Amino acid sequence: MAARNPVRESRPQFWQVAKRCCQLAATVDVAFFFLFHLLGSPILAWVNVVSVAMYVVAYRALGKKQNGLAITLIWAEVIIHAGLGVVLIGWESGFHYYLLMFIPALFVSMRLRGAIAALAGLWGYYVALYLLMWFIEPLQPIAPGPLLGVYLFNLSVVFAMFSYLSFFYVTMVTSANRKLRRMATTDPLTGLFNRRHMTCLVEKELARFRRNGHPVAFLVLDIDHFKAINDQYGHETGDRVLEDVAGIIKTRLRTQDLIARWGGEEFLAVLPDTGIQSGQASAERVREALLTHDWLAPNGERIDLTISAGVSEFRAEDDLNSAINRADRALYRSKELGRNRVELEVVQEVALQS
Ligand code: GH3
Ligand code: MG
Ligand code: MG
Repeated sequence: MAARNPVRESRPQFWQVAKRCCQLAATVDVAFFFLFHLLGSPILAWVNVVSVAMYVVAYRALGKKQNGLAITLIWAEVIIHAGLGVVLIGWESGFHYYLLMFIPALFVSMRLRGAIAALAGLWGYYVALYLLMWFIEPLQPIAPGPLLGVYLFNLSVVFAMFSYLSFFYVTMVTSANRKLRRMATTDPLTGLFNRRHMTCLVEKELARFRRNGHPVAFLVLDIDHFKAINDQYGHETGDRVLEDVAGIIKTRLRTQDLIARWGGEEFLAVLPDTGIQSGQASAERVREALLTHDWLAPNGERIDLTISAGVSEFRAEDDLNSAINRADRALYRSKELGRNRVELEVVQEVALQS
């Protein structure tokens, strides 16, 4: 199976660039039409008129999403135009450089096997053209001065187009990477960290705790009777509530606090440099903010929304799971004691003294 190609994933932008290339190439060909008339090469001048027509059709085809037709026209134009340019005024004209521009474009627009086959064909054509010019003289040669001018012009256009394409590829890969990283680390509904990424981040935080001993508080927050909200107002409203709850939790905690959607309607917050009492205060802040927020269903009815929370503090003998388990036990106590409250971990004094 062909490997996933992050640039090919960005096809809409790719076709945008193809359109821009059509505009650019057609402009260059209009310039060539006048240039070759001046240089007394009427055949090449009229070739450019055909070329412009092909680019116009290709551009319109791209607009109508007839991408196959557009690509065929662009390919045909470049192959014929480069071939004619070389045969008529010589290899030194530099028209063959345009063929090289297809190399990166092939890999972006085709699957690997097709790209390799097309690449082999392109290489064969390029070499054949070169060998041909070893054996024949240009059919419509121009004076050395203008020939140098045409060469430098072609070289500059190819440089500019390659730079544009390279810039496009790099931008696409960078933005595809950013998108993949976001997808791998966040929960799509709430935008909070997902469980896997949170685990990595908290492990790093705990390593810091082991180095400097600064306290770290764990908050487990769970929406009360969330199932009833879903049942009464529908899953979509439930989703919207989850998004808003996440937003409110975020605003009530500090930027350095790590917040994740830990389960369906359960959130985990890890607060660096925070002891258990401050952790409890933070959880209370979140609970009150959610309690006082106006929760309205689409039908205008008020939704009663509360959360329960459990708070623990990381200890030297802890690992991630044991610290979360203790916060979880505190959360269950909050539920048992009637919900809409914050409970702290029960400190096992006896165990600590022994
Ligand atoms: P408790 O107070 O004991 O926590 O009761 P609860 O109803 O909140 O807890 P329970 O575990 O019984 O139900 C959780 C519900 O959360 C069930 C599930 O359908 C819902 N849920 C989980 N993930 C999502 C989600 O992504 N969107 C929506 N709308 N609902 C979800
Ligand atoms: Mg719940
Ligand atoms: Mg739950």
